[in-house]
Amino acid sequence: EEEKKKYVKGRKLGEGTYANVYLGHSRSDPSVLVAIKKIKVQKEYTDGLAPDAVRELKHLQELGGHPNIINLLSVFSSKDQNLNLVLEYLPLGDLEMLIRDTENVRYGAADIKSWMGMLTRAVWFCHDNYVLHRDIKPNNLLIAADGEVKLADFGLARSFAQPGAKMTANVITRWYRPPELLFGARHYSGAVDIWSVGLVFAELIIRSPFLPGGSELEMIQMICRQIGTPTEDNWPGVTQLKDYTVSNTIQPVWGKEAYMSRFGAVGSEGVDLLVKTLALDPKKRITAREMLEHRWWRTDPKPTRKEDLPRKT
Ligand code: ADP
Repeated sequence: EEEKKKYVKGRKLGEGTYANVYLGHSRSDPSVLVAIKKIKVQKEYTDGLAPDAVRELKHLQELGGHPNIINLLSVFSSKDQNLNLVLEYLPLGDLEMLIRDTENVRYGAADIKSWMGMLTRAVWFCHDNYVLHRDIKPNNLLIAADGEVKLADFGLARSFAQPGAKMTANVITRWYRPPELLFGARHYSGAVDIWSVGLVFAELIIRSPFLPGGSELEMIQMICRQIGTPTEDNWPGVTQLKDYTVSNTIQPVWGKEAYMSRFGAVGSEGVDLLVKTLALDPKKRITAREMLEHRWWRTDPKPTRKEDLPRKT
């Protein structure tokens, strides 16, 4: 109750798949702008579970303070039992807007390196704190006034949203979903986020989604075709996964050379890193920590300084 009094709610900023987002400001200091995200909570959660949700989200608040993770300033439930997240206000849109606006927004390898560095540091910080994000995609990478990219929209909040809304969110997320989840793996790791990071990397380069499957089955077909067919040879145990299905024609896993024609704009070292994020077997996929040690970051061109990065027009 106390938390809620600290902020004044203003005009509606937008409507998401499972929440309404409002502009707001701090009551004690009106120059502090915030985004208040009001999540419509499922009916079955309204008695009793909302406090749990709040408790779990408080945990997320502890991730705050990293420059590349959106700061969750406060969490409270309103009298209609909805969950309210008070987030730092990020006025410059998201990476998806920049990727899509090919008419007005131009960027190159140095800019991609800068954005990918910020994303990788965010994911490393999450994993180092035993938090999986589970929904990394360009639309969840918001841009601060100083150009800093911030990872937003942790899946936890979504898990309390209305089921109908949740389905819609799933549709958007499908393109970034790793093969182990498509095959119904029940135990998974930080590697799920790394796969999504790899797909964001690919999309930044080609400026369109790399694996835009229209269904889960089509996702698997695209992975087989563009990356290679998961088999016992390249991924021991894969055939035992609950939903494992691949077509009879086995596509060998493509090597780095095959990626060069399409993704060569980031250079040979960049492509090397990309291929390592897209390893089919999650055990063989590069980790966030290993990504940060990769040679690409220290190869020319240097990453663009955040204040010099392209912005939405
Ligand atoms: P989506 O379902 O597209 O992920 P969200 O529910 O996260 O959308 O947010 C809906 C809209 O509210 C976004 O399109 C964005 O314009 C705005 N928004 C969300 N979070 C913030 C923020 N921290 N600062 C400024 N605007 C935001």
